[in-house]
Amino acid sequence: NAKRKGGNQHLVYRPADGQEIERLYQTEADLRVAIEQGQLILYLQAQMDQAGELAGAEALVRWQHPQSGMVSPAEFIPIAERSDLIADLDRWVLRRSLEVLKRWQDRGQRLTMSVNISPRHIQSARFVESVTEILKETGADPTLLVLEVTEGLLVEDVEQSIQKMKALSELGIQFAIDDLGTGYSSLSYIRQLPVHELKIDQSFIRGIPHTQSDVTMVKTIVSFAQNLNLRVVAEGVETRSQSKFCEKLGIWGQGYFYEKPIEWHLWQRKWGVAM
Ligand code: C2E
Ligand code: MG
Ligand code: MG
Ligand code: MG
Repeated sequence: NAKRKGGNQHLVYRPADGQEIERLYQTEADLRVAIEQGQLILYLQAQMDQAGELAGAEALVRWQHPQSGMVSPAEFIPIAERSDLIADLDRWVLRRSLEVLKRWQDRGQRLTMSVNISPRHIQSARFVESVTEILKETGADPTLLVLEVTEGLLVEDVEQSIQKMKALSELGIQFAIDDLGTGYSSLSYIRQLPVHELKIDQSFIRGIPHTQSDVTMVKTIVSFAQNLNLRVVAEGVETRSQSKFCEKLGIWGQGYFYEKPIEWHLWQRKWGVAM
């Protein structure tokens, strides 16, 4: 298998035994096939605004493996991120979700579509062109597209990444910082980025409303965001009291309390957005 030998220089981050390396190679090869053969499935999860109304969706990819069944992205995204395979995967998800967004648009639904983009994909040479191309091909409204990036983006090639985000922002695309609070960047650093939304990591929402340090953290982020006119989304809202807390603070919420991610066409039917 040419791809296996074909030098993935990023393979060994830490000591791994032969079996583990073999398994990684196999998953990577399987994933390549999965993208080509339509084994990936687009799932969506609702995002609710400060009034508790449907405001948008996040695209979350699933892999229907022919032998292993449904595989979680927590398992295969890190493997895809070891090579440029992640760019192919992200582009597949972006194309599918923009096709769906276009259908909503055509039916007069103004919902945002949030799509996860890996740092490695942004750092790839053709990132800006390929996003622009997919937007054109699908005819989706760029102002309804939110690209979610993590603080991991801020480790390598920072200046270049910021330039790319700015270029896409000029087309109307919005950016969100995903999993906020789990990385190393400070709020003052985030202030310098062309971002429109902050997504508070679910580990901070878990302690709401009882854990004082989590309450303080969330309130600090919200007041920072309000000063900068940024939207805030709480991730991992699982209880009614957490949803109330979000509404009171005037922020958006996403989580199992509202719904678990579901297959895109079932999602559309459930919310009546593309009849
Ligand atoms: P994420 O972008 O932070 O997505 C949120 C994750 O939290 C999703 O996991 C979602 O199913 C889960 N979640 C949502 N609400 C709740 C809740 O109330 N409680 C709990 N415990 N979990 C909740 P999922 O779908 O397994 O995705 C995991 C991660 O994989 C994502 O985290 C994202 O970083 C990555 N990912 C998913 N799809 C893509 C993709 O298309 N491209 C890239 N690059 N990464 C993706
Ligand atoms: Mg996300
Ligand atoms: Mg997240
Ligand atoms: Mg995450």
